[in-house]
Amino acid sequence: MDLNNYKELLDKAYEKIPENVKQSSRFEIPKVELRIESRNSFITNFNKIIGILNRDKKHFTGIFLKKAGTMGEIRGQQLFLKGQYKAQVLNRLIENYTKTYVLCSICNKPDTQIQREGKKDYLKCTACGARQEIKEK
Ligand SMILES: [Zn+2]
Repeated sequence: MDLNNYKELLDKAYEKIPENVKQSSRFEIPKVELRIESRNSFITNFNKIIGILNRDKKHFTGIFLKKAGTMGEIRGQQLFLKGQYKAQVLNRLIENYTKTYVLCSICNKPDTQIQREGKKDYLKCTACGARQEIKEK
């Protein structure tokens, strides 16, 4: 088969996929935008990140700050962190959070919600219906 033809076919097939399916298959966490000021760090696109993760801000910051090993707080649209951080380190922490608390471990989609039952948290997937106990890594 002609390779160019093949690519064209793929493009055509892709165009036929409904918009909402395309979006969820292209789930991407925005990279942190950092501003360092007087030896402290601000994630300036925090609101955008939390919006895409679709999780509670307090839930996220509680875990995130603990893993970063520092203190901090939400300041308007930004997340303030005590100390200087590299974007790379913070991106990794967000990725880890996403794997544990956002992405379904069965179908890998982000269409999930956290459900609390007793002392255990479960990740319920609205895409495939799976429900898994959340285990911190
Ligand atoms: Zn799922």
